[in-house]
Amino acid sequence: MQVRKPLIAGNWKMNLDLKEAVGLVKAIVDGVERLDNVDVLVAPPFTALAAVKQAIGDSRVLLGAQNMHWEMSGAFTGEISGGMLLEAGCTHVILGHSERRSLFKETSEIIDLKLKAALRVGLIPIVCIGETLEDREAGRTFEVIGAQLNGSLKTLREDNQMPTSTILAYEPVWAIGTGRTASPAQAQEVHCFIREWIKKRFDTETSHAVRILYGGSVKPDNVRDLMSETDIDGALVGGASLKADVFNQIIEFQEP
Ligand code: PEP
Repeated sequence: MQVRKPLIAGNWKMNLDLKEAVGLVKAIVDGVERLDNVDVLVAPPFTALAAVKQAIGDSRVLLGAQNMHWEMSGAFTGEISGGMLLEAGCTHVILGHSERRSLFKETSEIIDLKLKAALRVGLIPIVCIGETLEDREAGRTFEVIGAQLNGSLKTLREDNQMPTSTILAYEPVWAIGTGRTASPAQAQEVHCFIREWIKKRFDTETSHAVRILYGGSVKPDNVRDLMSETDIDGALVGGASLKADVFNQIIEFQEP
């Protein structure tokens, strides 16, 4: 069976000025130096990408963007293409974050277009999925997750091929920025469902290789328990990724 290296990704959202962004990434670069058992990624706002890339230098910290458009160029005022992200030094892009889905009305069809465009230019997508509290309380969690997977990965399903570098992030909407974390067992149940979904739609090998992150109020005091679950391969961290000492404690979750 494949060993999946954990990935801890910090989603900075619309936070930090340039000086703060560079200061934060420098502290993360220092923190990651002695750790070779974890991949670490930061996703700053677009305007900080170039400066953060420069501060990363040749360290192992990976650079991701928080969103992108599906066209390569054209009359799309206010949008950023995958090619532009590559040029800014990104290797990864977060797609379909619940804030994009709910506040900016991004549908799974749109995420599918973005996913296709990201792969076309060579960016590694981190595709987010997750149910609302209402969905969960109505017993619709698996139905919603299944529909989001079917829609957001439609082209991959049709092509019958999912690059194993693709990353999925299960982020229950009710746990994002609320301080309310899914219990390790609750998260594992959904991660296991997602891995089974990959196995059924693609194949066993792909399902063993793809990393599935958990996101939703991950903190230094809950990260170990979450990561000890079989199908949880890392974390997408919002609020706790904005303070170097806190984020560095999270990336050190495998240290004694
Ligand atoms: C997120 O926005 O992806 C997230 C998980 O946020 P938080 O860690 O603050 O809940």
